[in-house]
Amino acid sequence: MTIIVKKFGGTSVSSVQKLKKIASNLVEEARNNNLLIVLSAMGNSTDKLEALSEKICKAPNPRDYDMLLSSGEQVSVSLLSIILNNMGIDSVSFTGWQAGIQTDSSHMSARITKINVKNIQSEFRKKNVVIVAGFQGIDSKNNITTLGRGGSDTTAVALAAALKAKECQIYTDVDGVYTTDPRVFDKARKLDILTYEEMLEMSGLGSKVLQLRSVEFASKYSVPLRVLHAHNAGTGTLIKKEENKMEGALISGIAFTKDEAEIMIKGVKDQPGVAGKILGPIGDAKIEVDMIVQNVGSDGLADFTFTVSRNTLKKALQVIEKNRKSMMYQSVISKSNIVKVSIVGVGMRSHAGIASKMFKCLAKNKVNIRMISTSEIKISVVIDQKNLEIAVKALHNEFKLDKK
Ligand code: ADP
Ligand code: ASP
Ligand code: MG
Repeated sequence: MTIIVKKFGGTSVSSVQKLKKIASNLVEEARNNNLLIVLSAMGNSTDKLEALSEKICKAPNPRDYDMLLSSGEQVSVSLLSIILNNMGIDSVSFTGWQAGIQTDSSHMSARITKINVKNIQSEFRKKNVVIVAGFQGIDSKNNITTLGRGGSDTTAVALAAALKAKECQIYTDVDGVYTTDPRVFDKARKLDILTYEEMLEMSGLGSKVLQLRSVEFASKYSVPLRVLHAHNAGTGTLIKKEENKMEGALISGIAFTKDEAEIMIKGVKDQPGVAGKILGPIGDAKIEVDMIVQNVGSDGLADFTFTVSRNTLKKALQVIEKNRKSMMYQSVISKSNIVKVSIVGVGMRSHAGIASKMFKCLAKNKVNIRMISTSEIKISVVIDQKNLEIAVKALHNEFKLDKK
């Protein structure tokens, strides 16, 4: 029988009523296929669990924290199984470890290292629908781990790869992947098809409709991935390998992140080794750096600017202050109300002039660019947060993304 993996996100399973609706939609497909269902926790229950722990302390023991956060998914999978069994459709619910998901020990952002599908396959032989708790696994010492927020997407794709499923379907609260977040711009258009590469860039640059790691898995193991609405009919967006005939759209989408911060270290020596002296201690403190710009100033001094995620800004400033002697700088300025806006598209490879079109459009709309970075299929700019919506809308119009 064909194996199909379906994942339902938090909003889509936020009540027993919604779970019942999902169950009744599964009846037909469960007859002729082996269905593996991955669920997120109901509604915002993961946020609520987080808030409970925050009432006690800011930095809980990571093992305890994962034990707590993983409990949300156990509620939704057991309820769906109760509903299906009650309807006469045989099903079984599994936690991550029961489903054979092994991870490394990086609590709160664990990586899946191996999947033992023995238990799932044995349930498939009994013709049971298998329902797996997303977002969690077990490490080599039997500690429960979680895969980072949004991690149920990764559970689903990893299981689809391990089971060689025909397709991994991600059901959510929008009916596919759009040219930009439809909650920010109502002219955003649903895309029918996207390449793994484009989706990797979109997710990596802030479109949280799919967790980045899930797209990495899908691309590595060539799992066809489809994003669909959980409760409305439609064919959604298919994400797959690039084919010649897909070459068409110059720009497929606009992604943005609102959680960036900028640090400018002024008056560093303009000589070899300086970047390493600054970024070395930052890296040692496990702070991820995104964009980097060095301006040559005067008198052999330069300004070194980089961006970090906003929640690591304070820590980064502490590291810089602590290493003042070895970094040898004059002053530090930081700014947290900045955002990154990116245009993404495989068509960019074969067309020149996209960058200048983007910059002209922003200039016309009086949006000042603070930093720029490019790769083969994306151009990103850092701008002031107040200009985010203006920039997204202007670029969407400039590249005619509302038209097919
Ligand atoms: P789930 O709970 O189902 O995992 P998420 O909230 O993680 O759902 O992802 C769906 C949300 O992603 C949508 O509600 C939408 O606001 C947001 N989103 C951001 N960028 C895009 C995009 N380009 N296309 C579609 N949705 C997007
Ligand atoms: N429940 C987890 C979260 O809210 C995982 C997920 O939904 O994918 O992040
Ligand atoms: Mg999600």
